Amino acid sequence: MPAHPPRMFPALDDTNRGFWTGGADGILRLLRCRACGYWIHPPRPVCPKCWRRELGWEATSGRATLFTYTVNHKAWNPRVPVPYVVAVVELPEQDGLRLTTNIVDCSADDLVIGMPLLVTFEHDGEFSVPLFAPVVAEPPRKT
Ligand SMILES: [Zn+2]
Repeated sequence: MPAHPPRMFPALDDTNRGFWTGGADGILRLLRCRACGYWIHPPRPVCPKCWRRELGWEATSGRATLFTYTVNHKAWNPRVPVPYVVAVVELPEQDGLRLTTNIVDCSADDLVIGMPLLVTFEHDGEFSVPLFAPVVAEPPRKT
């Protein structure tokens, strides 16, 4: 029995494999167009900006801000504990570059739109699921 609730994963293919497996080393990778530099998510085989197919997986900063969220209280799957947060986060790499995810390590009562977040991963077999947690403020430095 895994330490976390089971997730349903998509079938891996040449288009989505990099997203679902690319975080094995703790780095969030998204597709980026080699021709025009446009970040692409969800993954697709063609750049929606310039229609080229020269795409590759590139590391992001792993940072994001909370764009919107909802708190699920209904136990749709009895093996998945509630409540849990389903969120859309926005990455700083590009205007409108957003990812649907879960927020972890934070009470739903403490969520604030625009709050800074950092990626973390839930590893399950070959899948590394990107989740986001609040950035923990560092204590002020003594001078
Ligand atoms: Zn492009």
